Amino acid sequence: MKMINYFACFILFLLLINRAAAQTATKINTTIESKIDQLLKQMTLEEKVGQMAQVAIDVIGKVDYSKQTFTVDPDKLNDVVINYKAGSILNSPPGVLLTAQQWNQVINDIQGAAQKTKMKIPVLYGLDDIHGVNYAAGTTLFPQQIGQAATWNRQLVYDAGVITAYEGRAVGVPWTFSPVVDLGTNPQWPRIWEDYGEDPYLSAELGVQFTKGVQDPLGSKEKLVVSLKHYMAYSDPKSGHDRTDAWIPEHYLREYHLPAFAAAVKAGARTVMVNSALVNGIPGHINKHILTDILKNELHFTGFVVTDWQDIENIYRRDKVAKTMREAVMLAINAGIDMSMIPYNYKEFCTDLIALAKEGKVPMTRIDDAVRRILRVKYELDLFNTPSTWLKDYPKFASGEFQKAAYNTAAESITLLKNRNNVLPISKTAKIVVTGPNANSMRCLNGGWTYTWQGDRTNELGAQYNTILESLTNKFGKGNVTYVPGVAYKERGPYFLDSIINIDAAVQAAANADYVLLCIGENSYTETPGNLEDLSLSDNQIALANALTRTGKPVIVVLSEGRPRIISKIEPGVAAILHTYLPGNYGADALADILTGDLNPSGKLPLTYPRYSNSLVGYIHKPAEGAGNPQGGAFMPQYPFGFGLSYTSFSYSNLAIDKNIFGPDETATITVTVKNEGNREGKEVVQLFISDLVASFTPDVKRLRGFEKINLKAGESKTVSFKIPMKQLAFVNPGNKMELEEGEFNIQVGDLQQKFSVNKTVVF
Ligand code: BGC
Repeated sequence: MKMINYFACFILFLLLINRAAAQTATKINTTIESKIDQLLKQMTLEEKVGQMAQVAIDVIGKVDYSKQTFTVDPDKLNDVVINYKAGSILNSPPGVLLTAQQWNQVINDIQGAAQKTKMKIPVLYGLDDIHGVNYAAGTTLFPQQIGQAATWNRQLVYDAGVITAYEGRAVGVPWTFSPVVDLGTNPQWPRIWEDYGEDPYLSAELGVQFTKGVQDPLGSKEKLVVSLKHYMAYSDPKSGHDRTDAWIPEHYLREYHLPAFAAAVKAGARTVMVNSALVNGIPGHINKHILTDILKNELHFTGFVVTDWQDIENIYRRDKVAKTMREAVMLAINAGIDMSMIPYNYKEFCTDLIALAKEGKVPMTRIDDAVRRILRVKYELDLFNTPSTWLKDYPKFASGEFQKAAYNTAAESITLLKNRNNVLPISKTAKIVVTGPNANSMRCLNGGWTYTWQGDRTNELGAQYNTILESLTNKFGKGNVTYVPGVAYKERGPYFLDSIINIDAAVQAAANADYVLLCIGENSYTETPGNLEDLSLSDNQIALANALTRTGKPVIVVLSEGRPRIISKIEPGVAAILHTYLPGNYGADALADILTGDLNPSGKLPLTYPRYSNSLVGYIHKPAEGAGNPQGGAFMPQYPFGFGLSYTSFSYSNLAIDKNIFGPDETATITVTVKNEGNREGKEVVQLFISDLVASFTPDVKRLRGFEKINLKAGESKTVSFKIPMKQLAFVNPGNKMELEEGEFNIQVGDLQQKFSVNKTVVF
């Protein structure tokens, strides 16, 4: 009887794996799988555990700060790669920026050591290519992801992926820890600028484009593997501070935070990095439900899961859910972690995991599964045949073509938030006072993850690119531009501190100028050093702005900042506002072209710009939080999600839907005509919002369900068409199931609205 039960279970198991395989996002390659079978048969436990270990570069060598070089120390390298058999190395050596040739050499040294091991398995090197290959000298740096999202242009994000992959391979590093598909729901969080904004659909669409641009076709010498991060809900800590607990019920996790990860996994993303913080009190790295049940079983993710920095150790030291390091290793690996970004105590990790496997506390099947996933990605990358790549084979590295792509992305990201009496664009012969702490800083244009982790050496390392002051001087002529900083960031101490330099001098200079260009916002930062206690713009910058608006001269504000600092105290007095986000090395050139009208701005906010520090409700909210509710109404943005002006104007007409009533399996075709009513060419982002009018679970006021960016010449019109499957309108119900309910929906495009109905409720 028992035998029959076992047999029945076995058959059921086979059926289940078959079903899983049929639904797998990335098809399993049988040739690769049999190569892995062969390797796994020959590998010792130590060799398997080594594959799961990732070590920081500073462990294997030495930095010479004066010469700005990094030298691999053969003894240390051999200990990591030969004795401990580590499968992966990461990061840029702290304090130096290597050239592509130096990187080539480091990678080749590492692969040389790997060749001396019995199994000859190449090492997988990983770097944070956050806005281009930002840890190598001379590469093409794009706007940070939030700026890329503000373009609402899929092609530009795809191209950024293609160029990042090409330059990444020129440098020799085949794995990038990007894109960030965390949802930018909490404007206090110091990493908002690393993501694609606050909307799940926008994040999913752009995350997919970047993933495809970087990876497809995987195995080519011009491609890398991505790591989606930080899975999941890292971005919405209750405290607003980095790496702290988020309180989010599972149906909200699935509704808002999961879709971008799910879409990018479906598009083939091969590695996933885990949330360094906690969700509902459970550290991301021991959350088996999220890592194994959802990611691996439900989404059929066949790549591998890597921890974030030191996060197995954090389970023990910070989160107090393990009594020892060894217990932390056990919890994490059993939860579904495949590779540990250790990054320093590799001996301890390997010893612990080997002991746990021998004691049966981590099953060998789990270790084999983790190693299989890691080897799979190494094979898919063709790393066994091409462990090293060389700059000389990449003639387009840092080419004019790539720089133009970065410039175009910056140009389409810059968002015109205010333009009183059409003060912009301004004449090329205008006299301008350029002021503010961000005016003459490459650091402020690039943000963190630029040459260094905190981006604190960009003024020196990115000196060949133009600051706002330099681009404006080029554009308007030296004689027309006066620079008075007014306020400056402190050289040392917390990044956010600034001090008054000479506000009076700025006011005096304004008297002889036609315009004041006030460059404000934030200095560079990322992660914990970016934690902030007050979202308002700094007091000193407010004082500078107010002194300048009192002169009566038109003040044009240029914002460069990683998160939306509150500007409600200065906004009424200024004539115009251009938001540049963190536009990268070509951002100032694009800004100068927009100021003079050589370019027409077309960026749109990928997030809600809040008006008050205590009202941080984003555009996705329930009616109770909506502006129309006198009791709750916390939604009072300075500028709404999706907002952005142009130097021309667009009209919307003929909003139409092909039927009035749809079955749940049907797809609607929605069309709208957009016309450029002005006398200059411009780009418009056509945004389709849909509202579920009544549901058993309180619906969001509205949700973005489609967008298209189009170019229209003066007087030109185009009809844009959206295909919307009804199932895309389902919500995740409190039982964590997708539910589409019968009833009425409202479409909103521009200032037009239209209703339709769904005729049947389905739960799936
Ligand atoms: C960050 C990750 C990054 C990793 C490796 C961590 O501190 O949270 O985003 O990929 O370091 O540099």
